[in-house]
Amino acid sequence: MFMKLKCPDCNKQTLKLTLENKVGFSYVLNLTCSFCSEKVCAVEMSNEREGNTVPDINLRVTQAFFNIGKGYSAIEKICMAVNVSPFSSRTYSKCTKLLHKAYGTATETLLREVHREVQKAYVVPTDVPAPSSYEGTTPHSL
Ligand SMILES: [Zn+2]
Repeated sequence: MFMKLKCPDCNKQTLKLTLENKVGFSYVLNLTCSFCSEKVCAVEMSNEREGNTVPDINLRVTQAFFNIGKGYSAIEKICMAVNVSPFSSRTYSKCTKLLHKAYGTATETLLREVHREVQKAYVVPTDVPAPSSYEGTTPHSL
């Protein structure tokens, strides 16, 4: 794929793609020149979302297993079955904390919206005149 690309430093067609720095299911892809060792480009396979400390792919795997009621041991079993090394239990712990925080925020937002809609539905309109009298209905009138 990179055979026809030239190194920006030495201008030779010796670029090589390597996998480095594995964080769970996410790798860093490095494009380097095998002639002059110039590091042309480094890209993470899975981006970290803003404010998160784990790659998005690890968060999604954790969420998928959480949604089917499974935890870290199930992730390990699936990874063993497909011959992929799982992320660490520490990474899993970070992912579950982020998910719980996100679910909490989503729940609060949803409940605030429901509260606002219920308030809107039960507000008595102020421009409707109140009944002026209840003639004949008061039990104390003689
Ligand atoms: Zn080079």
